[in-house]
Amino acid sequence: MTGIAELRLDGNAIGGVMLELFGIELTAAPCSCAGCGAREEMARLDVYIGAGIVVRCRHCEAVMIRIVEAGERIWLDLSGTISLELTRP
Ligand SMILES: [Zn+2]
Repeated sequence: MTGIAELRLDGNAIGGVMLELFGIELTAAPCSCAGCGAREEMARLDVYIGAGIVVRCRHCEAVMIRIVEAGERIWLDLSGTISLELTRP
């Protein structure tokens, strides 16, 4: 599953970038997988850091979130996430 250049972490690894993007803490935010429908807190997803950041469902391994950063730009692909539940601070 993982390439040798990839490092597998948990969802806490993207807490900083998600805080930067959304302005709120999201590690406890429930996310629903578009592949299998599983609902998990972001901190419980599998995070792979390589050339970009890939976040996979821990149940079906589908890609739920992709994040690519280059300079001042950040590309966020949430097409594998049916819903992301945000709570106002
Ligand atoms: Zn899934």
